[in-house]
Amino acid sequence: MGIDDVQGPSVQELLSLPRLAPLVPMLYVAWTDGELTPEEIRAMGTAARAQPWLDLRSSAVLARWLDPLTPPSPRALAQLRDHIRSTAERLEYSGQQSLAELGAQLAEVLGGKDSLPASMPELARTLAPMETAMGLSGTEAVRSLVSAAPRSSTPPAPASFDVDKLRLVLERTYPAVRTQIREWLAAPAFRYGDERNTAAYREQVFSWLKQLSARGLGKIAYPEDLSKVDLGAFIAAFEALAFFDLSLVVKVGVNFGLFGGSIYFLGTERHHRELMPKVASLELPGCFAMSELGHGSNVRDVETVARYDEERGDFVVHTPSDAARKEWIGNAAQHARLATVFAQLEVKGERHGVHALLVPLRDEHGQLLPGVRVEDCGVKMGLNGVDNGRIWFNQVRVPRENLLDRFAQVSAEGEYTSSITSASRRFFTMLGTLVAGRVSVALGGLSATKSGLAIAISYGDERRQFGPAGAQEARLLDYQTHQLRLLRPLATTYALDFALKYLVKRYVGRTEQDAMEVEALAAGLKAYSTWHTTRTLQVAREACGGQGYLVANRLPTLKADTDVFTTFEGDNTVLMQLVAKSLLTGYRQQFEDDRVFTVMKFIVERASGALTDRNPFQVRRTGSEHLRDGDFQLRALRFREADLLASAARRLRKRLGAGVDSFQAFIQVQDHLQSLALAHVERVVLEQFLAGVEQVEDPAVKAVLGKLCDLYGLGCLMDASGWFLENEHVESGKAKAIRKEVTRLCAELRPDAVALVRAFHIPDTCLAAPIGLGQPSP
Ligand SMILES: Cc1cc2nc3c(=O)[nH]c(=O)nc-3n(C[C@H](O)[C@H](O)[C@H](O)COP(=O)(O)OP(=O)(O)OC[C@H]3O[C@@H](n4cnc5c(N)ncnc54)[C@H](O)[C@@H]3O)c2cc1C
Repeated sequence: MGIDDVQGPSVQELLSLPRLAPLVPMLYVAWTDGELTPEEIRAMGTAARAQPWLDLRSSAVLARWLDPLTPPSPRALAQLRDHIRSTAERLEYSGQQSLAELGAQLAEVLGGKDSLPASMPELARTLAPMETAMGLSGTEAVRSLVSAAPRSSTPPAPASFDVDKLRLVLERTYPAVRTQIREWLAAPAFRYGDERNTAAYREQVFSWLKQLSARGLGKIAYPEDLSKVDLGAFIAAFEALAFFDLSLVVKVGVNFGLFGGSIYFLGTERHHRELMPKVASLELPGCFAMSELGHGSNVRDVETVARYDEERGDFVVHTPSDAARKEWIGNAAQHARLATVFAQLEVKGERHGVHALLVPLRDEHGQLLPGVRVEDCGVKMGLNGVDNGRIWFNQVRVPRENLLDRFAQVSAEGEYTSSITSASRRFFTMLGTLVAGRVSVALGGLSATKSGLAIAISYGDERRQFGPAGAQEARLLDYQTHQLRLLRPLATTYALDFALKYLVKRYVGRTEQDAMEVEALAAGLKAYSTWHTTRTLQVAREACGGQGYLVANRLPTLKADTDVFTTFEGDNTVLMQLVAKSLLTGYRQQFEDDRVFTVMKFIVERASGALTDRNPFQVRRTGSEHLRDGDFQLRALRFREADLLASAARRLRKRLGAGVDSFQAFIQVQDHLQSLALAHVERVVLEQFLAGVEQVEDPAVKAVLGKLCDLYGLGCLMDASGWFLENEHVESGKAKAIRKEVTRLCAELRPDAVALVRAFHIPDTCLAAPIGLGQPSP
């Protein structure tokens, strides 16, 4: 028995058979991976013994090495590892892509070319399927076996795809606008400065805004010929701009998106004719005054009043209490001259709900007008280049024409008219026109996420910590935890890129019929995407260790500036409730008590119908091929959504049937509704990612996107495994297999990680100096 243990297979015997030499690395990894089940080890034995070049003796020894009942001892495995590593030292090349390739090369080193049972490439090819069947990721397994301490001479592995081709896929919509923004940002004026002096920073941001407006940024949103408005182009500009300073991006969003958008969508021809050119050129900077101290999420109950005075033919705008002061209004503290103010409209003593009207704040010299009081909100967590302010109105009179009257009009005599009779529908119709803000915020946040990932992934590829004694330390990105922490968010970022482009397309092409569905889609994707931004930037900061904390390395600013994206343009939790409610009403109408019960019945019936589709998890297969099937992942997410929808509707119906009022009934199932909304959004995102990958033509780009898509889909299933297990929709073996597959996918994507962030095409001037070069913070 020599040095081998009594029980397990013999190392000496294994190493004495040249025909088994190519299989040695695979055997070692099969036993040390710790994740292979006895069935998988047996399956590997069957596959190996089917190799035509094995003689009887080799087959018999192999069978002993792949018998789950008599595993090799730790000592035997250590010997095998030392044998592999010492042989690998003699290899000239260390970039093997698979265990099969490594095995063939080791066999050649040991016995010369003639010892091989087949030519090396052919051998590696025949062994490759076995490796795939085992689910052992090639490059990662090789790296952990022989290059835990990569040699300094190791050339960086080339990406598996052409970065420029992937970039073109990401920039396929509005490419000219994106190029234009990149050109503008390349000017020396657009460099980060000192953000600590709030006054100077605000002036800098305003100066940038003026420069961009002079170059035509506003006209991307509102061209001279307004029949040519395509807000998709403006949203793309916003997205590209968000690689740079986010205060500038938010200032752009407030001025052109919110303020300009309110006039464009809620106003009529005369407002357009008179004001849109001045908005586009920044001749008339403005703000969007909706939120109040007392009412942020609940806009329907804002308290500011706009009373029509039929004697004088004008509106009197007034702040009745301190809680009614307009709060957080971007551009209000310093630069806005005109405000779109949301107020309760009162005509002849009758209230008609929230309407928007234009109220001048400052004259052309920037002096506040009579009756208007403004206060600065003060220093914020981030976005300090934006002048957020509070506004009080004291009986401010504005002409009747200042009412943005697309949906409701007030005649000189004080007759109120509207084509939308229901006050509730009128309110939601008005708000619905402002959905572009949510789309833009989601995309702006995604650009910031891309910046954070680009910084952390590039750093993780360079930075080394720990390693085997006497050898070079390993790169951070070669650690499994680092891969899981950064590459899963990378996959979600790619997924969202496709999903948000789909949202823009739906938004640009929306009709009266699908407007509510598009609104719900925007609400859900805004919430999901900005939560992703906040989480990812935290991870990216941590992944860079102490260097991530340095302002010069950009992550602190990215984190602080995007944090509020989860709150403004609609608080995320509130938005997710809106998504769930719209699913429960089938996008038909806003919730109104009398209709709830009937609608719920319809939903229960419809969703239960969807559930008769067999639970995709009933298929017990756990192999990679099955798990990496987008159709399987999508059916699983659809199943979860349909199940949550049907059960939420059932629970609501029960309560409504028992006489609980709808407000209370919804509170009692609120958490359920959040889960439903999340299930819905994740399903939509995966659906769009799959559809997007399907359209890619270049095979290498398609392959890497396919892996990212699998990682996103399986990641969603992994995160939801608690729910699937709780409801007994999945067996624990399959849940574990999904977890393993996620880890494998991260390892497979690791060699492409840097190229995947380079494809984001972030201008160098927008990113930090390479971390570690020690640029002092400004
Ligand atoms: C930097 C910044 C810039 C802004 N710019 C503008 C601007 O230019 N113009 C403008 O009009 N507004 C602006 N806002 C206001 C912004 O839109 C509001 O802050 C936002 O709508 C949330 O309102 P709130 O702050 O009153 O929070 P609240 O509505 O009080 O919410 C507080 C918490 O309560 C939770 N909550 C609320 N309702 C429910 C519910 N029904 N069920 C469960 N949980 C609930 C929310 O999830 C949240 O966590 C800005 C805000 C900030 C911070």
